[in-house]
Amino acid sequence: MTTAPLLEVRRLTKRFGGVTAVDDCSFTVRRGTVTALIGPNGSGKTTVFNLITGYLAADAGQIVFDGRAVTRPDPARLYRRGLSRTFQQPRAFDGLTVLENLVIAAGHGWRALAGRRLGARDAARGEALLEEFALARHRDTPAGELSYGQRKLLEFAALLMSDPALVLLDEPTAGVNPTMIATIERHVRERHASGTAFLLVEHDMNLVMRLCDPVIVLDGGTVIAEGPPSVVQSEPRVLDAYLGG
Ligand code: ADP
Repeated sequence: MTTAPLLEVRRLTKRFGGVTAVDDCSFTVRRGTVTALIGPNGSGKTTVFNLITGYLAADAGQIVFDGRAVTRPDPARLYRRGLSRTFQQPRAFDGLTVLENLVIAAGHGWRALAGRRLGARDAARGEALLEEFALARHRDTPAGELSYGQRKLLEFAALLMSDPALVLLDEPTAGVNPTMIATIERHVRERHASGTAFLLVEHDMNLVMRLCDPVIVLDGGTVIAEGPPSVVQSEPRVLDAYLGG
């Protein structure tokens, strides 16, 4: 079954000096999918993420999100429209508590924290997410005191405050232990089951193969294969790209 496109990347190109990091790259993320974006180091995955989310400006090409062209890609604007992301190094406001980080992420700005009187509705949603992500006992802990894995969970939980239609996860399991990998996978599955679409850059191929469909493979900044994991992993072009052929 194919579902409607949620994100369309059309002929994107991005150059850094003489390096073409993303080269006439096109793909679609459909509603209801957990889509993987994989490829060898330097194949352009991070640059594609940064273009989609407005952290970099493209030299050419178009991005359509939720049926509307993204004419001025801007991270905050896209976040409000339902497209949010994580980073390879999880980001949080270290001096704020875990709950305060969630409240801020609801997008109602710093005013919500004025005098530490949290907006009641955002606070209630934050508390629910803390339970869901097993972070409740860290509710009042400054984010800067969390472990690396907990910071990844906090970043994930925080972006859910915006009710995103599409979540881009940049190497969600890099540097975390197997228990935390399983936890992150479970959260992706649960949110996917309730309608959120995901696009993942991920190096753990076992995780990609069991969690993602379709899998999109980049090499040299362009898509070289796309399809169900079982098909993609046996494509000669994909094997060549990974083996440096
Ligand atoms: P990946 O995430 O797949 O490892 P990247 O998107 O980081 O790939 O990089 C793609 C190519 O673009 C690489 O050749 C990289 O060296 C180059 N590149 C990425 N960012 C920059 C930058 N800010 N300045 C110059 N070159 C860059």
